[in-house]
Amino acid sequence: MTGIPSIDKSMVRHSSRIELSLPALQSNVAFVRDKIGHEPIISAVVKSNAYGHSTQYFVPMLIQCGIKHFSVASSYEAQEVLKVCLPDCEIMIMGILYSKDLEWVIYHNIQYYVFDLERIRQTVEAARRVGKKAIIHLEVETGGNRTGLPIEQMEEALELLKQNADYIDFRGLCTHLAGAETLANHFRIRRQMVRYNEFYEMAQQKKILPKLRHIASSSAGFTIPEARMDMLRVGIVLYGLWPSPDVYNMHLVEINKVSDNPLTRVISWKTDVMHLKEVKEGEFVGYGTSYQAPRNMKVAVIPLGYANGYSRSLSNKGFVLIHGKRANICGLINMNLFMVDVTHIRGVKIGDEVVLIGKQKNNSITISSFSDFANQLNNELMSRLPADIPRRIMK
Ligand SMILES: *Cc1c(COP(=O)(O)O)cnc(C)c1O
Repeated sequence: MTGIPSIDKSMVRHSSRIELSLPALQSNVAFVRDKIGHEPIISAVVKSNAYGHSTQYFVPMLIQCGIKHFSVASSYEAQEVLKVCLPDCEIMIMGILYSKDLEWVIYHNIQYYVFDLERIRQTVEAARRVGKKAIIHLEVETGGNRTGLPIEQMEEALELLKQNADYIDFRGLCTHLAGAETLANHFRIRRQMVRYNEFYEMAQQKKILPKLRHIASSSAGFTIPEARMDMLRVGIVLYGLWPSPDVYNMHLVEINKVSDNPLTRVISWKTDVMHLKEVKEGEFVGYGTSYQAPRNMKVAVIPLGYANGYSRSLSNKGFVLIHGKRANICGLINMNLFMVDVTHIRGVKIGDEVVLIGKQKNNSITISSFSDFANQLNNELMSRLPADIPRRIMK
């Protein structure tokens, strides 16, 4: 080996840190339960590294909250959940599953979406080879026009499921509603629900019934009681965010209040002041000419940039908290650095805590505030948080 010193890697610090609040998650799960009733199964959607929170940390936290069903977008993500879940947990792949992974998935009792006849045939073959039943959810086309079995193929699909009942556990009949978070889309959602029922009636006529019906994500689960059925695939609200102002407003109408916020953000994101600089009036800050000091000012250098999931679109727009006060970003977000104005904040020192998302003293930065000032969707911001930022669970 060359001269690499053998220092414990845990001693080396990352440029920022993420904290995950277990009490916040517990209260979000309780609220979802309260909202949807006791019967339906909650499948926690933990795709995209648990919306950026980290699968490795978030799945065990969900298990502590009594969740046992997890939905992901790929076999790779299923593997990530499998590593940290318990034997009595269920994992469901809603998205990409390559044929060559079928046997692995069946062997591990992982459930998966099927939306074409070829996949049913492959499933029979793979289940035969593995010597186990495959657990499938038949996803049907109701008007979303993404994935989904067309109604013309439903008879044949049911026939295949009937003939191969020894190899296939027909666990679910499902669809995805296209944009239930916006009330203006509800005419489309209602049409999807009518079409979904046509598929279900065909299954009833043939007496080949799925064990579970599920069509709702957070938005439909909160706003359309008939959409709750046997299981809900719930993502965004578990992380403590409302899917949209419409869904929040409908909640207020339902409980007949003008304000109420039972959802709590689980994530906080923090770093430290890296450096401080006095800048003379008329000087530019950072690259190019996008920010010129309007007066003598003091700026703090923050050791994060777009490579760390802090979007470049926040240049000259976003803000952070230092000493509980708002410090506006000045200039462009660089790959690994950005600058904020701290002229008005007394006594800022190198190493002082900087809050990017979360609370500091009496102030806080919400995730939705990013979408307010940079038009960045909550989901996009969260799911782009790099997996390598260290996480800590706050009890
Ligand atoms: C992401 C996703 C969900 C969860 O949606 P939320 O709005 O986060 O609750 C549910 N179903 C499918 C198919 C999804 O892709």
